[in-house]
Amino acid sequence: MDQEKAINKFAEHVDDLLNLPLVTDLEMKELYGEEVATVLEKINRLTWEKQLCLQCDSLCCQEYGCEFYAPQFGQCPIFDLRPTVCRFHFCEKFQVVGGSTIKELSEIFLYSIHAAGRCGSTRGRFFDPPPLGKIAPQLVESISPWVNAVRTGRLNHRDGRKYVREQVTQYCTTHACSEEIEKVKRQSRR
Ligand code: SF4
Ligand code: SF4
Repeated sequence: MDQEKAINKFAEHVDDLLNLPLVTDLEMKELYGEEVATVLEKINRLTWEKQLCLQCDSLCCQEYGCEFYAPQFGQCPIFDLRPTVCRFHFCEKFQVVGGSTIKELSEIFLYSIHAAGRCGSTRGRFFDPPPLGKIAPQLVESISPWVNAVRTGRLNHRDGRKYVREQVTQYCTTHACSEEIEKVKRQSRR
């Protein structure tokens, strides 16, 4: 992989993201480039085929204390929007599917945040691991009642996922508007 290219691309585009800490698949391509996005997709496919994360009940999400985690979901309820740190997190089981590529990806993730910081970006904190309450309190506040209802068995996982995603969509709409305003302000100060 061309690490330097991916790191520079990240530093160039990180301030364009509108819904951090949430990131879409398309934004991943814009952020790190086609090559990294394709490698990540390939690892995801292999992970799914080998059922790696399913078999361990998403232990790392649980250990992070992620507010989106409920064992009943089976898979992250915002898989296609999950934060970058989740997309680059590979436990030792991934050596089977990824080998040395895993190390290269981890380096891209870390070095790109450092590079963006050196270029003046203040968004490094959005790439910290969960819990997400400290960086996205409104988002966590809106989804927590639904996730807790699933965790305690008061709501089935299908409805829980649906309500969580409704809240996430609402967050993205309102958050994107306020981020756009901030972006215009930043640009006018330059
Ligand atoms: S990354 Fe590893 S610990 Fe985390 S869910 Fe997947 S298999 Fe489990
Ligand atoms: S947001 Fe990340 S840590 Fe939380 S459940 Fe999804 S993949 Fe796991």
